[in-house]
Amino acid sequence: MAELTLDGVTKHFDDDGDRIVAVDDANVDIGDGEFLVLVGPSGCGKSTTLRMIAGLETVSRGEIRLDGEAIDDQPPTMRDIAMVFQSYALYPHMTVRENMRFGLEESTDLPDDEMDRRVEETAEMMGIGDLLDRKPGELSGGQQQRVALGRAIVRDPEVFLMDEPLSNLDAKLRSQMRTELQRLQEDLDVTTVYVTHDQTEAMTMGDRIAILDDGELQQVGTPLQCYHQPANRFVAGFIGEPSMNFFEMRRDGDLLAGDDFEYRLSAESADALGDADRVTLGVRPEDVELVGSADGDHDFRTTVDVVEPMGNENNVYLTFGDAADEEARTFVATVGGMQAVDAGESVVARIPEDAIHLFDAETGEALKNRDLDATEMSTPSL
Ligand code: ATP
Repeated sequence: MAELTLDGVTKHFDDDGDRIVAVDDANVDIGDGEFLVLVGPSGCGKSTTLRMIAGLETVSRGEIRLDGEAIDDQPPTMRDIAMVFQSYALYPHMTVRENMRFGLEESTDLPDDEMDRRVEETAEMMGIGDLLDRKPGELSGGQQQRVALGRAIVRDPEVFLMDEPLSNLDAKLRSQMRTELQRLQEDLDVTTVYVTHDQTEAMTMGDRIAILDDGELQQVGTPLQCYHQPANRFVAGFIGEPSMNFFEMRRDGDLLAGDDFEYRLSAESADALGDADRVTLGVRPEDVELVGSADGDHDFRTTVDVVEPMGNENNVYLTFGDAADEEARTFVATVGGMQAVDAGESVVARIPEDAIHLFDAETGEALKNRDLDATEMSTPSL
């Protein structure tokens, strides 16, 4: 059992008398065997959070508990936690075998032959059994990454902490290692906190994701919850590629008026807005439809600015005004790869009401998320 709890965890740094709040009141319970991805833009406090869990940084306020027991006062070596860094942090003068053994020697008092057995077993599992006598300088990036992971796994810890472990690999290897790492984590069933700034990695790897911005946790949920039911505009814009389209609108009763178009809401959607008079309307690119003719309240005549063919789909950049106008703002519709559209063409974009998100323009809070069939959102078992 290894349940990890962050309870009001806060970290201040002092920068020449200025107080930097790197992490502000983070609360999250990470279940036994769960894979939690901590994601957010650069500088949002991901690494600091991880380093506090590892014991490499002190906690300014709040508590970190492992299975209900506070670990804040334990030095890193006393915590049954193994960390994998982006830089791999392998010792260049040691062989793979020595690198993998080193962590074991530091954290356990196992007999020599038991350590050797564990190192060899883990190296086999990681597909690096034949590299044990090489030094890190004689390995490829992917092999070094496997050694760094192997060094953490061989310790058989209660918790893995991983700080952007795949970011030094090329795109193909990264996606291969992503799958491998997920499979490994599932087999080992070790509670894992994985830090990345890459939302694709977060969506594809995590049982749940925790989204941080400017030191504050914005939402903790399954990838699909965060995608379809974002807590606020930040989460809505951060998760998803291409990003959700946003339009700033003034509200008058059930009518939203923006610079480029007006959008009539149903009574139910209008009710969800309470007394907000400025809202942001959001719609995901794949929910914008290109249709034959404008015959509804939610159909708008637009001009195709640019088409990005992706093969399986096209990202179509549209403008409400003249595409040649440099000031005209574009929004994106993702349509099937076989749906032919050309730059300059006039098309009708439909923004269906059941797909829209409405956010308070001031606070960013989600006032209404898209309609979903309840069965689509069932939480996967952890
Ligand atoms: P990145 O993805 O770029 O690594 P991050 O999300 O991991 O970013 P952190 O490294 O946790 O962000 O930093 C969070 C904030 O704390 C930043 O504003 C950073 O400048 C600040 N910070 C981190 N370490 C220190 C330090 N030792 N002293 C002062 N400020 C620090």
